[in-house]
Amino acid sequence: MAGNSAICRRCRRAGDKLFLKGLKCRTAKCPMERRASTPGQHPKKQGAIKLSEYGKQLAEKQKVKLMYGALERQFSFVFKKATALKGVTGENLLFLLERRIDNVVFRLKMAYSKEQARQFVVHGHVNVNGKRVSSPSYMVKQGDIITINDSTLKNKEFVEGVIDKRMNIGIKLPEWLELDKKDRKGTVLRLPIRSDITAPIQEHLIVELYSK
Ligand code: SF4
Repeated sequence: MAGNSAICRRCRRAGDKLFLKGLKCRTAKCPMERRASTPGQHPKKQGAIKLSEYGKQLAEKQKVKLMYGALERQFSFVFKKATALKGVTGENLLFLLERRIDNVVFRLKMAYSKEQARQFVVHGHVNVNGKRVSSPSYMVKQGDIITINDSTLKNKEFVEGVIDKRMNIGIKLPEWLELDKKDRKGTVLRLPIRSDITAPIQEHLIVELYSK
């Protein structure tokens, strides 16, 4: 699993905050707030990098891919799915990405970072409607119940030291999800809407990129 600074390096490389860690991302402790430069031996000020329109579109796509941990093939697949749905394609894209189980586990405050949430899913710690789900790109539906599987719950040190500790931190849950901390259970109350996604994303740039 990537360490804290390795995760934050992804934001510095992308030149934008990717909100991969939760509370820290919204405070002055975020390295992007303290040091607005790209990583490497010769850091450049973010504002000094002038991008063409195409460059901006590519950068936005890369940012969103990193934000949601989606690989290129998965991302193209989700975009195609977004174009087939009714409504605004860019928003549909974000709604589909937001519904990924690794993102939902992170939003439910069951993991410290999106990376950790992905690992929890891959390692089989997460159930949806009582069945183990091990693919991070699995998409939740309205009414789905997300729980930690029974064998993981037996590991008290892990559950109390990681999951319970994280669930008690003061990050507001998105309104489309509900968390029952006592039973370590999340519920998808409804599907996400645009106002549920608070990270600064210009999804129209990604749609423009794919329209070329
Ligand atoms: Fe790290 Fe979050 Fe800041 Fe990114 S936004 S650099 S993950 S604290």
